[in-house]
Amino acid sequence: MSPVSDYEIVIGLEIHVQLKTRTKMFCGCELTFGEPPNTRVCEVCLALPGSLPVPNAEAIHLGVMIGHALGCEIAPRMKFDRKQYFYPDSPKGYQISQFDEPLCAGGGIGGVRIERVHLEEDAAKTIHAGASGRIHGSASSVVDFNRGGTPLAEIVTEPDIHSAEQAGEFLRLLRTTLRVLGVSDVNMEEGSLRCDANISIRPHGQTELGTKTELKNMNSFRYIEKGITAEVARQAALLDAGERVVQETLHFDPRTEALTSMRSKEEANDYRYFPEPDLVPVPVTAAMIERARAAMPELPAARAARFEEDLELHPDTAKLLAWRSELGDWFEEALAASPDGVSAATAGPLANWTTNELLKRLEGETDPGGSKVTPAALAQLVALVGAKSVTAAGGRQVLEVLIAEGGDPAAIVEAQGLGAVGGEDTLAPVVQEALAANPDIAERLRGGDMKPMGVIIGHVMKATKGRADGGEVTKLVRSQLGL
Ligand code: ADP
Ligand code: ZN
Ligand code: MG
Repeated sequence: MSPVSDYEIVIGLEIHVQLKTRTKMFCGCELTFGEPPNTRVCEVCLALPGSLPVPNAEAIHLGVMIGHALGCEIAPRMKFDRKQYFYPDSPKGYQISQFDEPLCAGGGIGGVRIERVHLEEDAAKTIHAGASGRIHGSASSVVDFNRGGTPLAEIVTEPDIHSAEQAGEFLRLLRTTLRVLGVSDVNMEEGSLRCDANISIRPHGQTELGTKTELKNMNSFRYIEKGITAEVARQAALLDAGERVVQETLHFDPRTEALTSMRSKEEANDYRYFPEPDLVPVPVTAAMIERARAAMPELPAARAARFEEDLELHPDTAKLLAWRSELGDWFEEALAASPDGVSAATAGPLANWTTNELLKRLEGETDPGGSKVTPAALAQLVALVGAKSVTAAGGRQVLEVLIAEGGDPAAIVEAQGLGAVGGEDTLAPVVQEALAANPDIAERLRGGDMKPMGVIIGHVMKATKGRADGGEVTKLVRSQLGL
């Protein structure tokens, strides 16, 4: 059997984002979570005869903001269409969506092109009550219409993604971008961000796309990556065996890693779209586009570029800080509090202490905002290390104390006697003593063999409880030996 690497992987994603508006897409029902079932409903979202939808202007505004963030063209008008299908959680028997004139088209983010972004309403929620929810003695499913009619933006990418990891990376950037925009809670467990992955493979060099399958509604990025990996392996095994991939919708069980068919192409729905007769298209005015532009914050991609260019951070560090918006905010607060001022010279070590030393010690926590270390405290600590008042090793000890108890770095240095031992007066005698205690090593150094320098440094470190600077020790050794 040939390996998966014989094929090029092609992935396009469809992402549903619940928009953070006060009310539903076409009625005035409030979007509050955790209310008793069927208490946030009205004649419009229950589709009672004679009721008429009214589009939510705020949802359109948030849709235009998403379009700006993804670099899309914004349509001149907001036109809705009916998408017909029967499902118990869709009371009208159709969904109001957008078909041939999506609000946003084109654009891209993180190297992945966006095909379209359109607005639609969410379905209600079916709860499979099972045996415990027996009604008249039989197992049953019930519908909670509170969610029905929630505004959604559906973001569809071009098939530009070529690995499970790239899909994960794209989704992380998209999620942070949407979060920073403030258009959605983007919480996968709560369903405010949902993703379907369209997957195909083809032999390298083949121009036409392979037959795709669709993995439905996975609720974590890790599961999406695992699901894609499993599906690519399944497709590769089929092609290797001379068989064909059948176009179908699949469910991935992250526990068993099993892929099961939900429906095949033959059973695929024909949605019979037509323009929604109850809604006249509304123009998307220059004022609406300008209002959305004025509301745009700095986006993660731009922030990463700024960190790289202005603060001269390593691209990976810049991305790490900018793509986790809380971490980026925390870092910028620390930088602003830096005793040495804001510059590339202070930002580099501070970013390093934030992403390496601090995060490493927070046990999987990605936002130091929940820890006892304040941004100002870390900035002061990094300045103390920079000024060589504390060695890097001593600084790490201070950080441990900050994480455990919080507090002021200078005071901790003082209280625990962690101040660096340096300068001619204090360090030179210790170096002298180390050389005297190791005459053979001193001899080798004098003869130009620098390899055993570490022995002397080790001796000094032991004598100063790690509070000396290795570079300074080396300098003193050289000067004392007349090198
Ligand atoms: P459908 O008609 O099945 O909805 P679309 O052409 O609308 O398919 O595309 C839906 C999503 O699937 C898009 O994200 C698109 O990029 C992706 N896609 C389309 N064809 C393929 C393919 N052969 N392999 C992988 N992804 C694909
Ligand atoms: Zn309603
Ligand atoms: Mg489609």
